[in-house]
Amino acid sequence: MAPGEDAPLPRAPGPDAVRSISRSDDAPDEPGTVVWHRDDLRIADNPALAAAAADADRILPLFVFDPGFYDERGAACDARIEFLHDCLRDLDRQYRDVGGAGLTYGHGDPLDVLARFVDAGWEVVASATASGRYGRRRDERARERLGVRFVAGDGLVRDADRPREDWSDRVESWFAADPFDWDPRSVAVERVETGVSPDRVSDAYGVAPTKTRVPTGGRGPAKDRLRAFAERIAEYPGSISSPVDAREGTSGLSAYLRFGCLSVREVHRHVDERAPDGRGKSMYVSRLFWNRHYTQKLLDWPGWLDRAVNPVYEGFNGDRHDPDLVAAWKRGETGFPMVDASMRCLRETGWLNFRMRALCASFYFHILQQPWRIGADHFYEHLIDGDPAINYTQWQSQCGLVGRPGLRLYDPRKQVRDQDPDGEFVGRWVPELDPLPAAHLDAPEKTPLAVQREVGIEIGEAYPYPVVDYEAAREEFRERYGAVHGAAAARLGDEEIARRASLSGGVGAARSIAADHGELAEADGDDADATSQTGLDEFG
Ligand SMILES: Cc1cc2nc3c(=O)[nH]c(=O)nc-3n(C[C@H](O)[C@H](O)[C@H](O)COP(=O)(O)OP(=O)(O)OC[C@H]3O[C@@H](n4cnc5c(N)ncnc54)[C@H](O)[C@@H]3O)c2cc1C
Repeated sequence: MAPGEDAPLPRAPGPDAVRSISRSDDAPDEPGTVVWHRDDLRIADNPALAAAAADADRILPLFVFDPGFYDERGAACDARIEFLHDCLRDLDRQYRDVGGAGLTYGHGDPLDVLARFVDAGWEVVASATASGRYGRRRDERARERLGVRFVAGDGLVRDADRPREDWSDRVESWFAADPFDWDPRSVAVERVETGVSPDRVSDAYGVAPTKTRVPTGGRGPAKDRLRAFAERIAEYPGSISSPVDAREGTSGLSAYLRFGCLSVREVHRHVDERAPDGRGKSMYVSRLFWNRHYTQKLLDWPGWLDRAVNPVYEGFNGDRHDPDLVAAWKRGETGFPMVDASMRCLRETGWLNFRMRALCASFYFHILQQPWRIGADHFYEHLIDGDPAINYTQWQSQCGLVGRPGLRLYDPRKQVRDQDPDGEFVGRWVPELDPLPAAHLDAPEKTPLAVQREVGIEIGEAYPYPVVDYEAAREEFRERYGAVHGAAAARLGDEEIARRASLSGGVGAARSIAADHGELAEADGDDADATSQTGLDEFG
């Protein structure tokens, strides 16, 4: 993002603006409650909104643009920022559609903005969320300094010493419970004009998305997608692994869930009630559990974003950091077509299906043997659905940093043969290989010279030779990883490490891994049938 030419945005709303709405003729002494929206950009099934509406006669829905997410510290690509802005415009409409005045936009350190309301007598309520260190500190300070009330209601377990005990049952009960509700007629929804809006923020920070095929954010588009997906859910199992089929065949709801346009529970309920029974439905519902499962992990330990969950793997691959290899991976120029096509698709569209995300993470960590966080940060920057709770925990799980037995190694050549036998995906994203017959796309460097001449491409010129010897790198990694795996498995026996790993089987499961696994056990990612992985334990 580059700053725009317009004057910088003021910190808003100013104290006068807040004071101007704090006095109401009907209730001069009771300013009301601010509903501080963050990643819950909807008015249905919203715990904070329901709590505010139950207690107050006046509410003021607020979103604060935090400069930290927009200036050089920001970690999101402009397309994700624009998607967020769509969601905010839509939230404003949602409030207006039920007769409210709309959404108030603030700009500045959220605590400073909220303090202006608190000083004028407003209470503040927000939905509790699982976040990394920054968000956690912000919320703790908001609670301590300003008395902000955080209302839980996202299905995560917060009130238990061992959150994983009976976890699935608790999440299941949450799915089955009635959504949070409020009656817009019983409360006045206020708004204050601040001069801040998503458009002005985009201008001020020079938000200029360049990605293509990015969906429009907001609850309206999310509901359309959900309805359409529920009707074709029977085709879901057959389409999740191929990167071409998955684009239309999976729900495409991840970015909407990430910003809370729909709650996970709303999606669950719709699918449960409206989708035909069958394998597609049960597989899909299991993914909604995975969403909660990985989010619970971040709630249980914020370190997932920057430290290896198993200390034995802290710094693994650090001594091999090779910026050229990392750059080749990011650009999609590794000489492995499925990895390159996926990485270019990620950069261009901000989305990849699960299997290709897992392949690229595995290739980066196991084969290129580069430090995991640089790869995870790159994903996080480019994914429209970039969710700290899922991205970083998935990265650590896929890389094998937990210390569970079984390494998820994906062979990029086999993935071409299995998932793109006609070369549609590779041809689309690596057009320089398009003239090559599909039979050579798994290993273009082995294409006979006569064929290369015939179709007019020269491997090594038009498209790179593999940047590493795949088989040798894989063996080397297995040896390096295997040499410390016993120690890593043993660390899972420590209570603290077992808790932070937050396995679906809880501390007991971590301890039995420690007891049972001193040696590396192998389970190739390719051999694992992704479509049959419906149990939480599979993804620990
Ligand atoms: C390295 C890596 C990084 C990832 N980063 C993210 C991320 O930042 N944000 C994100 O939402 N998903 C992430 N995923 C999980 C998964 O790839 C995406 O959720 C999925 O591809 C999104 O497309 P969809 O909504 O069409 O999925 P669907 O197949 O329709 O799944 C429905 C929903 O279930 C949840 N879900 C599906 N698979 C998983 C999973 N493996 N773990 C947790 N939840 C899941 C998501 O909320 C998803 O929207 C990551 C996976 C890997 C391997």
